[in-house]
Amino acid sequence: MRWRTALLGSLMLTLAGCGAVPENRVPERVQRPASGSPIATMRPEAQLCHAELGRTGSSFAPLPDQFYGAGCMTVDSVKLDRVGGDSGAFEVTNLGALACPLANTFAAWARFGVDRAARQLLGSPLARIETMGSYACRNVSGTGRLSAHSRAEAIDVSAFILEDGRRVSVLSGWNASREEREFLRTIHRSACKRFGTVLGPDYNAAHANHLHLEHGSGQFCR
Ligand SMILES: [Zn+2]
Repeated sequence: MRWRTALLGSLMLTLAGCGAVPENRVPERVQRPASGSPIATMRPEAQLCHAELGRTGSSFAPLPDQFYGAGCMTVDSVKLDRVGGDSGAFEVTNLGALACPLANTFAAWARFGVDRAARQLLGSPLARIETMGSYACRNVSGTGRLSAHSRAEAIDVSAFILEDGRRVSVLSGWNASREEREFLRTIHRSACKRFGTVLGPDYNAAHANHLHLEHGSGQFCR
């Protein structure tokens, strides 16, 4: 039994040694519980971005950074559930990790581009935005280049549900009634002013059922 006592003693010494490590030697990105965030030591730009998103009245949770290999990653990202509007908030469905700067651009577009266009052109406030997701580790279709989705810097938006119960989808609405066509083209135009790349049904058949909204300054609008 003596070896066991000795082992216990050395283990306790080791643990005591751990406690003696100065606070400033703790790795910078150690994750630990903190009020409202799983990430206690976010980078300053991420903190600013999260604060800005909070001010929009959106409901979201910060996500820990993830590196999946092959250049795919989610950094300073959030899980966005609701976006703040003029009164109340809109639900956003099916989003995974979303890069925080993209979440802010999306929140502004949803409120000032989509909800106000819905009120003006369709006579009802927006209730919900349906998406086909955000993060996906894949290439741009037909190329060897990684998609912005591989960094959670793109959202595919598929439909809009209004408070009066109507559902306007990109697939059926793009060539539907005059008011739905006008609504979808208006929000496509307003997206082009906010996002770096916007691709819709007029770009190619792969985008017949959604608007691809991508973070950046590329100003590519189709
Ligand atoms: Zn996309």
